[in-house]
Amino acid sequence: MQTWTIGSSTVTRIGEQIGPSDFVAASFLPQLVRDRFEPHLSWLVPTHYDPARDRLITSNHAWLVRTGRHTILIDSCAGNHKERPWMPRFHQLDTPFLRHLREAGAAPESIDFVLCTHLHVDHVGWNTRLVDGRWVPTFPNARYLFSRTENDAWRPDGGTRRQEVGGASAAMYDDSVLPVIQAGQAQLLDGAHAIDDQLLIEPAPGHTPGHVLLKLKDGAEAAVFCGDAVHHPIQVYEPSWNSRFCEDPVQAALTRRAVLDHCAAHRALLFPTHFAAPHVAAIDEEGGRFRPRFMRCAC
Ligand SMILES: [Zn+2]
Repeated sequence: MQTWTIGSSTVTRIGEQIGPSDFVAASFLPQLVRDRFEPHLSWLVPTHYDPARDRLITSNHAWLVRTGRHTILIDSCAGNHKERPWMPRFHQLDTPFLRHLREAGAAPESIDFVLCTHLHVDHVGWNTRLVDGRWVPTFPNARYLFSRTENDAWRPDGGTRRQEVGGASAAMYDDSVLPVIQAGQAQLLDGAHAIDDQLLIEPAPGHTPGHVLLKLKDGAEAAVFCGDAVHHPIQVYEPSWNSRFCEDPVQAALTRRAVLDHCAAHRALLFPTHFAAPHVAAIDEEGGRFRPRFMRCAC
């Protein structure tokens, strides 16, 4: 089990998969400049980059956060049995994600909040599971927190993103978000939202318009669960490099820099959704440049 501590709270990584991206590096990060990428190969290879295939290595995991008051699952990966033919990496998976969650000591019934930082296919999947041919919420006692902006982009009655990208991608919303709303378990967030005095959700737009992050503060220690605002560790060195999935590149780069600034200034550990091992980093800043200081779990 991979667990980090933030004050008296614990954070456990619940892994779904780890491996090479479906895209070559300069397609994954369209602003990638080889002269600025190659000096990092000594630490990127083999954990974060596969040079033989020219693929960035990415993980897909959820964060299980247990404070003295709450058990929160942040980003619910791609899920099992979901029809995603346009994304082979997430199509019709059958992974032991729920077993990993139970091994971490968290039965689905024990989760009281699920936070999706945004509504991309790899962040909503385990919101639901297939039972007798129907998609039902996986976490029966949880309140699921979604940004209203994200929800409105995908809603069946006129969602702008749904109209832009066409029907197949909307399956993600229809099988992994809509059943939660219909079950009465969703809470749509407008702007910042405090779960309590330790847990604060804030807008972090750019990757998607309604992307949010979660800040945890416990005593003198702090963490930021940044979703895809920072996608790959090379972006700590190069915060202007967006991923191909960033919908507003200018805003995404501004948000990425703001997240890194915050982590450096407040000594908050960065918990992204897609960093390969060791998955977590402190952020050091000097002269406006950032560098990651990877933090291994206590495990
Ligand atoms: Zn993602």
